[in-house]
Amino acid sequence: MTRLVCYRCGETAAFPERKRCECGEPLWFDTDGAAAGFAWPDGDAPGRTGGPWRYADLLPVERRDGVGAGAGDTPLVRAAGLDDDAGCRLWLKDESQNPTGSFKDRGSAVGVAWAAANDRPWVGTVSHGNMAISTAAHAAGTDADCVVLVPDDISAERLAAIAQYDPRILRVSGDYGRLYYDALDADVPVEFVNSDTPLRVAGQKTTALEICAAFAAGAGDPDRTAPDAIVLPTSSGGHASASWKALRELEAAGLLDADSLPRLCLVQAAACDPIAEAYREGREEVTAVDAGETVAYSIANADPPSGTRALAAVRATGGAVVSVPDEEILDAQSTLAAEAGFCAEVASATTLAGIRRLSAAGELAADDAVVAVLTGTGFRELDADGETPEAVDLGTLPERLRALAE
Ligand SMILES: *Cc1c(COP(=O)(O)O)cnc(C)c1O
Ligand SMILES: [Zn+2]
Repeated sequence: MTRLVCYRCGETAAFPERKRCECGEPLWFDTDGAAAGFAWPDGDAPGRTGGPWRYADLLPVERRDGVGAGAGDTPLVRAAGLDDDAGCRLWLKDESQNPTGSFKDRGSAVGVAWAAANDRPWVGTVSHGNMAISTAAHAAGTDADCVVLVPDDISAERLAAIAQYDPRILRVSGDYGRLYYDALDADVPVEFVNSDTPLRVAGQKTTALEICAAFAAGAGDPDRTAPDAIVLPTSSGGHASASWKALRELEAAGLLDADSLPRLCLVQAAACDPIAEAYREGREEVTAVDAGETVAYSIANADPPSGTRALAAVRATGGAVVSVPDEEILDAQSTLAAEAGFCAEVASATTLAGIRRLSAAGELAADDAVVAVLTGTGFRELDADGETPEAVDLGTLPERLRALAE
C-alpha cells in the first residue's frame, strides 16, 4: 500500500514522497482494492492481535511490538444515565485508555511502525500536546529517533510531559500553524506524522472501525448495524477525515449501506471554530479564522489542514458541525465526571456539550444511538483551579467515629 489518492479530485501520488495533492487538499492511502475484499476479522490472528492491528488488511504496515501493540481496543460504554441530559441514547468511546491517554496513539502506532519497517532513522511531529507526547512515546522503543517541533512559548509542564520520552525537542518561533506545511516540505530525512498525514489518518480511522465493529457484533444497540451518529471534537480535521475513511471502506466492503451510515457530527470550541463557521455559512471550503482563547486548547487549530475534508465528511454523511462556548464545555466536563465517572480532557467534553445543542436543534432525536468519542484523558490537566474542593473535616479518629455514628 504505497499509493495515495485525493478524496476531492481523484489525483493519485506515491507515498512517502507526497502528503498533499496538487489541488491543495490532503492525500490518504488508496485502499479501494483492500476495502472491497474486507470482512470483519474474527478472533486474533498471530501478528495482528488487537487495536489498530486487527484491521491490518486496511493498513500500510504490519504490527510491531512495543507500546504501539497496546494502542486502541478501547471500551465502548453505554452511558444510559446521561441520556436525558444528552437528549439521545448515549455511548462513550473511551480513548483515554490508550497507552498515552489519547486516540493519537492509534496514528502514532501506525506511523512509527511504518518508519521502523522502512528503515527511517527519524520520525517527527509538529505538536505541543497529545500528539507530541504520543509520537515520542511510540518512538522511544524503536531504533527511530523522534523530533518534536514545539512553539517557543511552551509551558514547562507540557515540555516535561513530552521530554520524559527523550525525543529531540526543537523550539520554533513565528507562525506555528505554518510549521505544519514547512515540516512536510522540508528536505530532511524525517518522516513527519503530523495531525492529518496519511499514516496518522490510517491509524486513526480505527476508532470508527472499532465503533462499527462493536455495533455489528451486537455490542452496541442490537437493533442497529451501526450508530446513528458519531460525535468528534475537531481541530485539524484529521480524526474526522479518518472516521469518514473508515465509513467509506465499510461501505465498499458491503458492511454498511447508505441507510445505516452513521452521521459524522463535529464539535468545536466557539472561540476557535473555522469548520463550524464554514458549515454555518454553507461554504465548501474552510478558511483560517482569527481565534480567541478557549479552555479546549487541544482543539484550537485556527487554520485546520484537513478542515475542508472534514466538512466534506459531514456533508457526505448528513452530519452537522456545532460550536460550544467554554462555560458549556466545562459544565459538560463536570457532568461526565460527576454523573458517569469519566475523567475526560476538556477538549473531549465538548462532545457532550455539542450533543446537547444538536439535540435541542433537532439534529439528534431521543431514539438515536449516538457515540461520543472521549478523545483524551483529563488526568493530565487536573488541578484545583486555585480552589480547594469541599470535603467535610471530621478531625481525629475517635471524633471521626463519633461523627460517623451521628
Ligand atoms: C488531537 C485531539 C483532538 C482533535 O483531533 P484532530 O484530528 O486534530 O481534529 C481532539 N481531542 C483531543 C484530546 C486531541 O488530542
Ligand atoms: Zn486533489
